[in-house]
Amino acid sequence: MFRRHENDRDAPYDGPMVKATGVFKRFGSLEILRGVDFEVQRGEVSVVIGPSGSGKTTFLRCINHLEKVNAGRIYVDGKNVGYREVDGRLHELRDAEVCRNREQIGMVFQNFNLFPHMNVLENITEAPRGVRRIPAAQAKARAHELLDRVGLSDKAKAYPAQLSGGQKQRIAIARALAMDPKLMLFDEPTSALDPELVGEVLNVMKQLARDGMTMVVVTHEMGFAKEVADTVTFMSNGKVVERGTPQEVLSNPQEERTRAFLARAM
Ligand code: ADP
Repeated sequence: MFRRHENDRDAPYDGPMVKATGVFKRFGSLEILRGVDFEVQRGEVSVVIGPSGSGKTTFLRCINHLEKVNAGRIYVDGKNVGYREVDGRLHELRDAEVCRNREQIGMVFQNFNLFPHMNVLENITEAPRGVRRIPAAQAKARAHELLDRVGLSDKAKAYPAQLSGGQKQRIAIARALAMDPKLMLFDEPTSALDPELVGEVLNVMKQLARDGMTMVVVTHEMGFAKEVADTVTFMSNGKVVERGTPQEVLSNPQEERTRAFLARAM
């Protein structure tokens, strides 16, 4: 067994891909996360469900340090994305270090967040070229591979405004994959889509899951959760209420709050 020390960058680490303990997050006086414990194993598809306002998006954003936690610890691949720990105390990392840590985490947002002034190919190659300094030809070749993977080979020269919502989201997934992330975070990736476009995005995500990607997916798509998730976490009121296999949580929930939510959602 290998156990990498927090600050030892070179040693292999075989623990969970995500481990969060006792995470608290406040916005002003509003306490949004109230002691979240959460773990995702390598290769696992972890679906997070729960009522609107329960803190799912906030927690996802804490994982890659887009939001700073007020208390608790979150490790991605054994490393704290936003802090260095010395003798148990947290010291905030410089922005450049946070960015470097964040490179290994792909994120897909509800509203796509594509760069509107760049075409599809430029959207996908921007980070590999700008951040990783990958030569243009190599970045382009990889972008074409990824476009093929999301079924949009013919859209390389299109601009986001010329694409449907489903196509935009598939491009956003390709763009995230271009950085070869270890972990993909999906924040309600199909919520902004017309119903007939949801399937094409879920299909790309299913393929990604089959390819072994570690994924945390906040979604209201219960069918996807049932079919693809290894674990389902139900959050309510800033806490994890229940967690287990889709069979356990969706078909045989133990907690009343989970049952009430599912009765409305399914
Ligand atoms: P969910 O994803 O479960 O719907 P969110 O994490 O989006 O929940 O939101 C939880 C609560 O936190 C909401 O009441 C929301 O208004 C609030 N919130 C989220 N981000 C901010 C912010 N940047 N500033 C203030 N309040 C916020």
